[in-house]
Amino acid sequence: MTRREVNRFLLGFAALARKAAAEDAERIHRELLLIDTHNDAPLRVIAGVDIGQRSAKGHTDLPRLREGGVGAVFFAAWVSPRYVPLNQAARRALELIDVIRHDIVGRHPEHFELALSAADVEAARRRGKIAVLIGIEGGHAIEDSLRVLRTFYDLGARYMTLTHVNTNNWADSSGDQNNPRVRRHGGLTDFGRQVIAEMNRLGMIVDVSHVSDKTFWDVLAASRAPVMASHSCCRALCDHHRNLTDEMIRALAAKGGLIQINFAPEFLTRRQDPPASIEDVVAHIEHAVRVGGVEAVGIGSDFDGIDRTPVGLEDVSKFPALTRALLARGFSVEDLRKIYGGNVLRLMQTVESLARQAGSR
Ligand SMILES: [Zn+2]
Repeated sequence: MTRREVNRFLLGFAALARKAAAEDAERIHRELLLIDTHNDAPLRVIAGVDIGQRSAKGHTDLPRLREGGVGAVFFAAWVSPRYVPLNQAARRALELIDVIRHDIVGRHPEHFELALSAADVEAARRRGKIAVLIGIEGGHAIEDSLRVLRTFYDLGARYMTLTHVNTNNWADSSGDQNNPRVRRHGGLTDFGRQVIAEMNRLGMIVDVSHVSDKTFWDVLAASRAPVMASHSCCRALCDHHRNLTDEMIRALAAKGGLIQINFAPEFLTRRQDPPASIEDVVAHIEHAVRVGGVEAVGIGSDFDGIDRTPVGLEDVSKFPALTRALLARGFSVEDLRKIYGGNVLRLMQTVESLARQAGSR
């Protein structure tokens, strides 16, 4: 063979290998159970969008969820802080729960199934359906009432983010720590500890995304069950108050908890140029795994809750590209099984069994 022929042979071989790797990644992706722990599509649905129809807008709809191979998703019942002064926080949470239960699951029962437990998620998967879970975002939604909290649990809420960007009556947020007009508690109040205890007793996951650093540590000390940051990244890679420090990731992991990597560009990188990309998401996953271990990391995209998305991860249909990128980076299929869904199932099972032990239900 001439050198040209050898080169042509090698190039052809490389292209074939790439094609085989891509097909392999696609097959692996389809076989993994992907649980996204934070998606804000209910905000678009409450505005009248039918999630069953493919749309050029937003990040989430049924056809794109199927394309992306999403197995389960926690839809956020996000209560904007503006409902607090209107005394409509609980009402807003109830409306969003209704949207998730009826406008999303109820309207598309052939594709969606409401899941209340880890076993439900696996059962939905076996039936070829997408498991839908409910997460409340913003602890002000309970209007300082454990009875309202319990009612949310009864309606299907399986996690609650203790705060949003606002400090509430019982927990400090990371979002307003520089606002001198906000009355802060220095973490969690005594009632805040009662909220945690009740969530543990019920079997509702305590979500520490959005809380202040002091609240994070108070929660970790107070909670009997492992806790989750449903949509946060690594502060070591991007210095943002919404992200977790390495010390926090280690402490979370030591208690069996999870950091679920968010796709918001402002949490991924402080670079001004070029824009955040799928490689930044991979870097945060890699860092979190290095610090907390592969059992402590997952995915909480924040799709439809973020204005901009990373290049290569523009909407829920793009998840297979993440699998390709992680495999190319050296992650094993076993690693991906944990990161994509296994860790969340384990956390849910732990939270459920601790609740059973407490004799709540
Ligand atoms: Zn959020």
